[in-house]
Amino acid sequence: MIDTHCHLADKRFDGDRTHVFDRAHASGVKQFVEVAYGPGIWEQGFALAREHPSVYLAVGVHPSESGKVPMEALETLRDHARHPRVVAIGETGLDFYRDHASREDQERWFLAQLALADELGLPVVIHQRNALEDVMTLLEHFRPAAGGVLHCFDQDERTVRRARAIRFRLGLGGVLTYGHAELDEAVRTAPEDMLVLETDAPYLEPQPRSLRRNEPGLLPRVLARLCELRAWTPEQAESITTRNARDLFRIPLG
Ligand SMILES: [Zn+2]
Repeated sequence: MIDTHCHLADKRFDGDRTHVFDRAHASGVKQFVEVAYGPGIWEQGFALAREHPSVYLAVGVHPSESGKVPMEALETLRDHARHPRVVAIGETGLDFYRDHASREDQERWFLAQLALADELGLPVVIHQRNALEDVMTLLEHFRPAAGGVLHCFDQDERTVRRARAIRFRLGLGGVLTYGHAELDEAVRTAPEDMLVLETDAPYLEPQPRSLRRNEPGLLPRVLARLCELRAWTPEQAESITTRNARDLFRIPLG
């Protein structure tokens, strides 16, 4: 399996990062897309990738960071994004749930990153919260050439159809285990080539939420729920979602 969205450079892993990687490998998660979402965090992501050949990177400016990052940082982001281990731009998008940044700042960075992704031929990793309509409208207008993923997908069948039309995938994580009927139905009926797995570690631990920190080694809990919804065996679910992740991010075999 590939964890297509995690934050393993997060300080919450400083005490036991080696064990986190060991547990991931033991549970069948062999490759990772580390999402480095702002200046300072970019460098930590590259350090992690240097240490772990199984780590690939998405680099971008998170909507919640966009208020404190000057647009001049776009040049540095472009340099980072040309690194061979970088497989995507993001996470970017809009977040109107938290008010860490103005709408103006969020949109400016979102549009700049959509342009950068197309310039470099990379897919985009989309974060949205309370901003689905605005995000989808912008994506439908710009139609990123290499597609992308709606990270932390928690929407309905209608949104699946809209994502499909612009060749976007659905990032399935802990939320899939929380028992949302509309999401369950959307995932049950979505075209199978849209589905990719992610943890968003250290956030969004799958049920049962007992550890207060998520990690890639818990991805089998999401896989198990996906198997229930699709009537798939674990082997089928693994091979389908891994193929989709490789296809989207162009990640070579480990
Ligand atoms: Zn994230």
